[in-house]
Amino acid sequence: MASPAGTLKPAGAPAGKAGNEPGAEPGRDCPLCPRLGEFRRANRAANPDWHNAPVASFGGADASLLIVGLAPGLRGANLTGRPFTGDYAGVLLYDTLLKFGLAEGSYGARADDGLKLANCRITNAVRCVPPQNKPTGAEVKACRRFLAAEIASLSRLKVILALGAVAHGAVLAALGLRKSAHPFGHGRLHRLSGALTLADSYHCSRYNTNTGKLTPEMFEAVFRDVTARLPGR
Ligand code: SF4
Repeated sequence: MASPAGTLKPAGAPAGKAGNEPGAEPGRDCPLCPRLGEFRRANRAANPDWHNAPVASFGGADASLLIVGLAPGLRGANLTGRPFTGDYAGVLLYDTLLKFGLAEGSYGARADDGLKLANCRITNAVRCVPPQNKPTGAEVKACRRFLAAEIASLSRLKVILALGAVAHGAVLAALGLRKSAHPFGHGRLHRLSGALTLADSYHCSRYNTNTGKLTPEMFEAVFRDVTARLPGR
């Protein structure tokens, strides 16, 4: 398993692949988080047509940018099965990706809208939808193995963009790094090792955008910094 940027070795990644390419993926009934498993079963009973399962990463395995969100939204990725698709946060994220040439097509808030990512991949720190959008620390820790496998699988990775402090902490933990050495801050760029950079942004959630904590201009400024660090830019 190649290390991102050829230097850091993700911590706790599974020894082998457990499902979808490119990294190890949780099974549809992943049993590691009892509370989330219970929520998943309740959601399947209430909405049998929804995805209601761990949400796989989106984008090609040759991406040099990995965007890490918090967790699927109940009526977003948990419904559609694609990260950030169908909920409020996805509108700003995909509009920004299209603007910066990191996506092609048009965003239609559905997994079958034909949108393609370009040199970019999207995942979540926690793959299953949590009640009230709030995973516990134990759930973030349990899902870390899949994030570590994801990072390890991207041999061309140059930048990881963490959306929010939880994703930031999950990325550092997945890489075996200490948060105290790399404190979260919107707009910060952390040189982790070799050619790998961790970039931070406030999460593009409805709450953050409605309160003005994150504006589209602030989000675009982060993407300007991020894309300047990608090959061919
Ligand atoms: S959040 Fe991750 S570790 Fe927990 S049940 Fe879902 S896939 Fe498994």
